[in-house]
Amino acid sequence: MTDDLLARHQAVLPKWMPLYYAEPIEIVSGSGSRVTDANGRTYLDFFGGVLTTMIGYDVPEVREAVERQLRTGVAHTSTLYLIRQQVELAEKIARLSGIEDARVFFTNSGTEANEAALLVATNLRRSNQILAVRNSYHGRSYAAMGITGHRSWSASSLNPLQVAWLHSGDRLRGLLAKLDEADHIEAAVEDLREVLATQTAGDVACLIAEPIQGVGGFVHAPDGLFAALKKVLDEYGILLISDEVQTGWGRTGEHFWGYQAHGVTPDLLTFAKGIGNGFALAGVVGRAEVMNAVQAISFSTFGGNPISTAAGNAVLDYVLDHNLQENAQRVGAILLEGLRAAAADHPIVADVRGKGLMLAIEFVRPGTLEPDAAVAGRVFELAREGGLLVGKGGLYGNVLRMGPPLTLSADEAREGLAILVDAIGRAGA
Ligand code: PMP
Repeated sequence: MTDDLLARHQAVLPKWMPLYYAEPIEIVSGSGSRVTDANGRTYLDFFGGVLTTMIGYDVPEVREAVERQLRTGVAHTSTLYLIRQQVELAEKIARLSGIEDARVFFTNSGTEANEAALLVATNLRRSNQILAVRNSYHGRSYAAMGITGHRSWSASSLNPLQVAWLHSGDRLRGLLAKLDEADHIEAAVEDLREVLATQTAGDVACLIAEPIQGVGGFVHAPDGLFAALKKVLDEYGILLISDEVQTGWGRTGEHFWGYQAHGVTPDLLTFAKGIGNGFALAGVVGRAEVMNAVQAISFSTFGGNPISTAAGNAVLDYVLDHNLQENAQRVGAILLEGLRAAAADHPIVADVRGKGLMLAIEFVRPGTLEPDAAVAGRVFELAREGGLLVGKGGLYGNVLRMGPPLTLSADEAREGLAILVDAIGRAGA
């Protein structure tokens, strides 16, 4: 750090805002898959913020789209007026969502997107009972924290909703771990039926779930689970909300949305993070009859503003024009294979998992399943020393997460892999 920015940060921002690294870094510029800090050190970025820089840094198409809007002299007035690029982006997202006769409501964050989804579901169903999944993360409003099962991220106990918890798809720990895929799905359906019968009054509004739990450490249940759960939900008219904040836009490689691995279409899906490639843009999509269940007026001053949606259009076009979903699958496979090979030599690694360019490594004490956050932290710091940024996560803080730009090249994947494997070797030595 070039000045006392860390001290100033600590003096003026609240202590509950986490900062990465023993010596936090200030990123001052970026290009492609790399960022440079205030000391002039360049890093390969395998986290992209938190999966926010989806198509890399300094993309001319995005810069030009935003500059074009700024040159009109109007950064934003209000979403009470027609905004051409908002409508255009909504049309594209509606078409891609897989949801019939879709309506799109834009917000500024994933938290607000989930709030909006909950607003719709609770209005439609006239119920504030929600099913959520253990170890989930859905945001930082009261309602979003209320449906967040990851306790260290749920900073308030003032929950406006009644929530009942389903088991997570964790394949290492917990009741459903170690079951084969068919048994896992059967047990999860049984769990859902039991929770409905014993912990709710039956008139539940919705189930909200992440296809791959992001903050939870990229944990995912077997493919097909959502379809099996939805069969039960449909018996009661309970809506399914897929939180695609981390899994959307082709990140998982095999599909455009995470829910598609499950062979079922949700009633609502929420998106955020990557679609703005750094600009604040998020939203919820749902069938017209579901979305229009909200009778009162609901509006967001900035949600879908001209600058964010200009960026969003440019980002989405870029993802589609450059087949980035396919790139995520191809380059993700190189990373996954390399990490799995390294894991075989390092007993501190209990699991390498994920899909596409959404991959995680879980660290334990060798020979046990005991989470080892300290060793994960060492790998994290050593990777940074080697010139690679990754993310942390997991219920026990013992997981390292990778969500690089979907534009990552095969060579960059191998370069990052070598740094990471070296860090794992040194941390475990
Ligand atoms: N849902 C998921 C799955 C997330 O990962 C996050 C952010 N980590 C959110 C919702 C909340 O998004 P935001 O931080 O934009 O409010």
